[in-house]
Amino acid sequence: MLLTRKQFREAVFKRDRYRCVICGKEDNLDAHHIIERRIWGDLGGYYLDNGATLCPEHHIKAEQTVLSCEEIRKAAGITNTLIPDHLYSDTRLDKWGNIILADGRRLKGELFFDESVQKILKEGGILSQFCNYVKYPRTFHLPFSSKVTKDDRVANSFSYVDFKNSIAKWVNPIFKSKLKEEDTFRWRYRTIIPNKLKSK
Ligand SMILES: [Zn+2]
Repeated sequence: MLLTRKQFREAVFKRDRYRCVICGKEDNLDAHHIIERRIWGDLGGYYLDNGATLCPEHHIKAEQTVLSCEEIRKAAGITNTLIPDHLYSDTRLDKWGNIILADGRRLKGELFFDESVQKILKEGGILSQFCNYVKYPRTFHLPFSSKVTKDDRVANSFSYVDFKNSIAKWVNPIFKSKLKEEDTFRWRYRTIIPNKLKSK
């Protein structure tokens, strides 16, 4: 159930008994978003299962993604892994929506190039773990599509403007900054792999 910001804070603190779920401290607590609220769009991700009570020290570790989403969920007793619909539920994510591969490397997500995210990942010493593979967000049939059957996923709350913005947000910065010099791309599973990288 989507909560308001106030309800979210209260419900998260109450479930965690007003203590940091990692160390048990009781002062200056934050109701931390396990998956960043900006990734949830206008909804803000104010779900109880997307929140955990953290002290300042562990809040910073969580924002730096040194403390993983899985560790935080486990500490808070959350068994339901909530992620936004446009991301893949079978992949590990860090707080900022970057995909974590089995070998620990990460793929750049939609907020990777955000200034504040860059800063916090740098502080956490995480930037060197990123590689240049790109995985697109899940694609939806849009409500105004004529090809939708009853088995298809339809993005109900998604307007055409949201769609355009989300694609632009994902693809443009990655293309502009990292793939500009690449002429050819190999397409596989909606994943773009620059040839230069692939041959390594
Ligand atoms: Zn703590």
